[in-house]
Amino acid sequence: MPTSEQARAWYTDNDPTHDFAHILRVLALARHIAAAEGADIEIVEAAVLLHDAQGSDPGQAQARASHHEGSAEFAGVVLAAEDWPPARIAAVQACIRTHRYRTGEVPESLEAKVLFDADKLDAIGAIGAARALAFAARSGQPFYQEPSERFRATGELEEGEARSAYHEYVFKLGRLRDRLHTRTAREIANRRHKFLSDFFTQLGQEMRGEA
Ligand code: ADP
Repeated sequence: MPTSEQARAWYTDNDPTHDFAHILRVLALARHIAAAEGADIEIVEAAVLLHDAQGSDPGQAQARASHHEGSAEFAGVVLAAEDWPPARIAAVQACIRTHRYRTGEVPESLEAKVLFDADKLDAIGAIGAARALAFAARSGQPFYQEPSERFRATGELEEGEARSAYHEYVFKLGRLRDRLHTRTAREIANRRHKFLSDFFTQLGQEMRGEA
């Protein structure tokens, strides 16, 4: 099993959205969900430590877009070097390949569902707001812009439309609670979802200059 110390070296520390602190938060959530749901903890922990290990550098947009594939391949190399049985390596890789919201691939095993849910819980609540705002600031995008009708209907931007942090909330973050797989994560998500949706509602009011 890779150690936390080993895993730290695979992640950047200069990006508050995808740094090693994200991995440690997901690890804590995943341990809690795995214990409550009866998942294989060794598969879950290895999948968490490795799930963003490739392409987490925000400067590499291309690698970031397929980081689930790159990280699954990397996991195969790391775990084979530790002599993990091929079936257990494949189980970890399946978790990593299906952990993303944007790709729409559905996690099938319980362990894959635990990774997906723990990772998405870290995208909502107060930390979810902080990560989305940090991402926008790093990418030179505004915190808030009213999304076009087209974006709301299709997720595609109009020509010249900025993709603000609020867009990310409309496209993804506000929908995550209803996309979770385990009962344990859904219970945790309720409070986080309310906080995040209140936050973005108030952000919109203040950005429009409402008192
Ligand atoms: P996924 O793997 O689930 O598709 P990403 O790894 O692309 O998600 O994004 C991880 C987190 O980064 C998101 O949950 C969000 O907090 C932040 N993020 C990604 N894209 C944006 C964006 N365009 N604006 C604001 N935040 C973003």
